[in-house]
Amino acid sequence: MSINVNNITKVYVRQKALDDVSFKIDAGEIVGLVGPNGAGKSTMMKIITCYLPQTSGQVSVCGFDVVEQSIEVRKKVGYLPEHNPLYLDMYVVEYLEFIAGIHKLGKKTNERIAEMIEVTGLEIERKKKIGALSKGYRQRVGLAQALIHNPEVLILDEPTSGLDPNQIVEIRNLIKKIGKEKTILFSTHIMQEVEAVCDKVIVIDKGKIVANKTKVEMHQFDKNCIMVSVEFDSKVNKGMLKEIPGVLDAACVKDNLWNIKTIPDKDVRPEIFKFAVKQNITVLSMNIEEQSLEETFYQLTKNN
Ligand code: ADP
Repeated sequence: MSINVNNITKVYVRQKALDDVSFKIDAGEIVGLVGPNGAGKSTMMKIITCYLPQTSGQVSVCGFDVVEQSIEVRKKVGYLPEHNPLYLDMYVVEYLEFIAGIHKLGKKTNERIAEMIEVTGLEIERKKKIGALSKGYRQRVGLAQALIHNPEVLILDEPTSGLDPNQIVEIRNLIKKIGKEKTILFSTHIMQEVEAVCDKVIVIDKGKIVANKTKVEMHQFDKNCIMVSVEFDSKVNKGMLKEIPGVLDAACVKDNLWNIKTIPDKDVRPEIFKFAVKQNITVLSMNIEEQSLEETFYQLTKNN
């Protein structure tokens, strides 16, 4: 287990930013922490990275407690904060040397800097001042500093926020590449990002976890039914379809194309097929309709 969050509550003066939050992340997973602005994502990440103490509860990273063993945790964790605080007057390599010094990398410094410049694609910008870099390249420098001490776990707070579409794709690809070797928790409020990058999604809203699912489970979130889209070659009616065992309801989309709502715990497609054979009609297409992640996110957090 890489990250183990148990019953974390965080109160800022009078406001409860996190309310009894628990989740686990296994080694090697890429997990998206998703939620509307103000949901508590940054607060959770600051607690995991030892930047902020929790009010109550317990967090361990690679088996080390974030309060009792924070030095060990910091060795295991790389962190890219939301507002990536780079020193704009420093040159890229100079900054990475400075960060390597904080991690006491000693003789390994030059080798690690060269590796990080390669991994994050900074080669052509390595001699520039950070202030002269585009936001996308600054994020790469941020990722390089987060990775320089070869941590097992990477915590990335909205790593693509403020980037242009090309930069977003590049940084997402970089996260996927890095994720082949590390455990990654990254926050976002963009569902396409989750779709593109992660294995699991934790949805947080008003300081509480409202879903913790694999991406596949998120697509089938409405547990009360499964929607099957079927096109027949000739006319059927709703009454006939509702007689099929396992069918709850049916709606005609157009012509002979139907959305058929079925019970959730059984694949009703064979029954629909048998029905068609019995009626001597042909099934032209039949698919289980997936719910979009945006739709799921909206349903989970719409009471805001
Ligand atoms: P997110 O990252 O999901 O946007 P945050 O963790 O930044 O959410 O914030 C969660 C809640 O805690 C918000 O309502 C925010 O205003 C509040 N908050 C965050 N940091 C502080 C702070 N230092 N002092 C007081 N309230 C804070």
